[in-house]
This record gives sequence, C-alpha cells and structure tokens, in this order.
Amino acid sequence: MKYKRILLKLSGEALQGPSKSTNIDPIMLEQYCAEIQTLRDQKVELAIVIGGGNIFRGGQAESLGIDRVQGDYMGMLATVINAMALQSALERHGLYTRLMAGIKMEQVCEPFIRRRAIRHLEKGRIVIFGAGIGNPYFTTDSTASLRAIEVQADIVLKGTRVDGVYNKDPEKFPDAVRYKTLSFQEAYERNLNIMDMTAFTLCMENKLPIIVFDMNKKGNLLKIANGEEAGTLIS
Ligand code: UDP
Repeated sequence: MKYKRILLKLSGEALQGPSKSTNIDPIMLEQYCAEIQTLRDQKVELAIVIGGGNIFRGGQAESLGIDRVQGDYMGMLATVINAMALQSALERHGLYTRLMAGIKMEQVCEPFIRRRAIRHLEKGRIVIFGAGIGNPYFTTDSTASLRAIEVQADIVLKGTRVDGVYNKDPEKFPDAVRYKTLSFQEAYERNLNIMDMTAFTLCMENKLPIIVFDMNKKGNLLKIANGEEAGTLIS
C-alpha cells in the first residue's frame, strides 16, 4: 500500500443515501463498512472524521432562532450520532474501533488525546473522531486536516459523491473537466472549493496531500490507498 496511515473524511450527508428519506441509511453504512474493511485487510492504519450535515449544521441555527454557537455545538453532537452509527456498523464487520471526541462524553467515547489516538492506530484500531475539534465556527473538514496532521497521517482522503475536482460543477455542466492532479496553489488561485479555507490552509502549510474521490464507487478507496490514479490529488 502506498499510504500506510490514512485519514478518511466522510460527509454526514453521504450517510443519507440517494433517497434522503432517512438520516442514516443502513445500505450506505454497510457499503462504507465494506470499503473500509478492504483497507484494514491490507493493514492500512485508518482514522475517520465524519460530518453531521445530515442531521444539523451550525449555519442553519440562526434561521431557526437558535444562537450560532449553540447551533455549532448541536452540529458537533450530530457528528457523534453519525460516528456512533459508523462505529457500530464497523464492529459488526469484526473491525476494532475507538471513538474519540473533541467534547467530553465519558459514557460514549474517549476524549481526544493525541498520543492515545496514535497508539490506537498502531494497534490496528480504526479511530473515529467525533464532535469535530470541539470548537464552534469550525467544520469537520478542518477537523480532518487538523487530526490528520496531529496523528501524522500520510494523506487526507475526502470521500464525496463526485469522482474528483472539476473546473465547474459536473452535476450542472456536462462539459466539466476533471483535474487529475492540482497543486495547492492552483486549487487556491482557481477558487476550487476543495475544503473550507481553514481546512485547506492547514493542509497546504503542512504539505499534507488531499485526494478528493468518489466514495460510492466500489473498490475506489483501496485503489487510492494503493497509489492508483482515481479522483483528484492536491499536493
Ligand atoms: N462543527 C463545529 N466545529 C467543529 C466541527 C463541526 O462547530 O469542529 C459544527 C458546524 O456547525 C458544522 C456541523 O458541526 O456545520 C456539522 O459538521 P459539517 O457541516 O462539517 O458536516 P458535513 O458537511 O461534513 O456533513
């Protein structure tokens, strides 16, 4: 495997599946676990950050008459719900996991302690980071970048429903062209919105590469971990 320690970022919305009829679609959970298992079968060390957008985003708060900071904490709690669902599904697959959260929740997960997280990874446990970084005004993309740097991951893999970064929205423009590789500088100058600015800058300054790829395509995750071309590599 090309990458030995990977941080996988999954959006909360992806868990809803295409029908969006439920917040957490069991078919999506199962599909993700099967993909993740292929990495563990190859002994790749894996940390996962999952978003909460399928349940709540801080940005929605004000329109509901909820204070923004309160809303952000609600969003962080939403990520824990998703993380717990994912943990349970991974364990059903016989995988060893640990859930570590940026907000203390002793009954359901460990607090995030960097050295302990690294130790879990070394022991082959999949570490899921819930509750973001524990601070409002951040996103789970920033959490992914920060935790990846902290645990010295080789790469951030951002799983989406499109197979990479395009020059324009491929869901709206059929003639959109996918980039195979991009430098951080090119991505910044072309305003390509790969991640929010905080997350993107953290990766750029720490020379942590990102691959944006289609998480719904079977076998893609393993292919990428093995260094094969898929999605868009930003480095
Ligand atoms: N959030 C936060 N701090 C963090 C991580 C997340 O305040 O460190 C909140 C923020 O309100 C965000 C919500 O949690 O909108 C859900 O996360 P995100 O929108 O990143 O989820 P995704 O879009 O990946 O599903």
